Amino acid sequence: MSIPSPAFRSRIREGMGNAILQEALQRATRSFLVSRSKAFADLPDAEAIRDRARAIRSHTIAHLDRYLEQFAQEVERHGGKVFWAATAREACDYIVSLARSRGVTMVAKSKSMVSEEIGLNHALEVAGIRVVETDLGEFIIQLAGERPSHIITPAIHKRREDISQLFQKHLGMPPTNEIPEMTAAARRALRQIFLDARVGISGVNFGIAETGTLVLVTNEGNGRMVTTLPPIHVALMGIERVVPTWEDAEILLRVLARSATGQALTAYTSFLTGPRRREEPDGPEELHVVLVDNGRSRWLGTPMEEALYCIRCGACLNVCPVYQAIGGHAYGSVYPGPIGSVATPMLGDGNGAELAYASSLCGACQDICPVRIAIPDLLVRWRQMRAGDLLPAWERLGLWLYAWAARRPRLWARAGRWAMSFLRRLGREGWLTRGVGPLQAWTAIRDFPVPKRSAFRDWWVSRSGGV
Ligand code: SF4
Repeated sequence: MSIPSPAFRSRIREGMGNAILQEALQRATRSFLVSRSKAFADLPDAEAIRDRARAIRSHTIAHLDRYLEQFAQEVERHGGKVFWAATAREACDYIVSLARSRGVTMVAKSKSMVSEEIGLNHALEVAGIRVVETDLGEFIIQLAGERPSHIITPAIHKRREDISQLFQKHLGMPPTNEIPEMTAAARRALRQIFLDARVGISGVNFGIAETGTLVLVTNEGNGRMVTTLPPIHVALMGIERVVPTWEDAEILLRVLARSATGQALTAYTSFLTGPRRREEPDGPEELHVVLVDNGRSRWLGTPMEEALYCIRCGACLNVCPVYQAIGGHAYGSVYPGPIGSVATPMLGDGNGAELAYASSLCGACQDICPVRIAIPDLLVRWRQMRAGDLLPAWERLGLWLYAWAARRPRLWARAGRWAMSFLRRLGREGWLTRGVGPLQAWTAIRDFPVPKRSAFRDWWVSRSGGV
């Protein structure tokens, strides 16, 4: 199957040709997977909890309108403001005008994939407002002028030497590859930002409908700084992130950290309900929750709505052979990997259907997904719905012929025998080193075994007495 666009093909080639990237990815994803297996092995009834987590997500998405209304009412009852953003543009405009109306010149951000999705940094910078990422991975990416390449670890493709050079250049850090010295340099650079910023922007892992509580899951203290030190806190939340109750949030938290980083819980799990109350010593004076739709609601009630169960743990990226070979940037989307290939065309302007071809459909993503999303099925649906139109005419004709022949068993058997005999004639000593047609791509990098004389079909017929 060919990847439709030349731009995508070229990004894939670039990723596959980057040995440093692949080494960094393999080292990081392998370590995540080992920790994840251990964390789930230590969890009693892990499979039952995964089933429960899926049931919670499925129930919530089926009743999303009801839980979102309840969540918004509770946020407002506790003194927060809720803005419903139908599009990325509406979300950005609201935040930019809020910052302008308060005379803000700098905002501090903690990690938020939705902010990447809506292009918030760009919108703020165009409005003359400085944006500083305070999550260490995002901070590194911002200094490098790049985009995140993983949902959980945005700088997964960077080696320690790369980061050291960035910090030497941008922070004036003396040459070192020692991690404690590098993190100390980042901390020094960010400390004043937390104190000076008038607006803190965060993402939201879950919004609990029964109390309007925001749940933030982080491994760095920056999330708490961003949401408590500046006088205004803006929380960006995809509408699918709502959960009905605290009990539901607790179940999802059990699988989120284990799937993401192999931890039972992350270092910081924060629960924020409303802005600062009169009797409280700290916290923001204003809380604005921006609920971002940006295309999500289009898919409710369709088979694609299952993609909205995603809790953005990133585990499907870590196990995907395609992601590991090409890296996150090759997808050209904010959301890379298997779930990115499903979700990207569902959001915003709906571009990116060709990502459905960046998969071998091996099913490893579905096996590891804590909420058991049938990612391969959803990818095939994309191929059926949209991406098929992107294929070249010869490939569409080939697929049509394949489907036509596969429905005619006699013809199929005869064609199979002919193809096997043809390939045997081309082969030497049991191997085909130079293929023809679609086999060329295979034999360009590895040999193809010559088919055996007796086919499985013949063997099966002889075993079952001609049945
Ligand atoms: S699809 Fe599943 S495994 Fe992938 S990020 Fe979402 S929840 Fe995690």
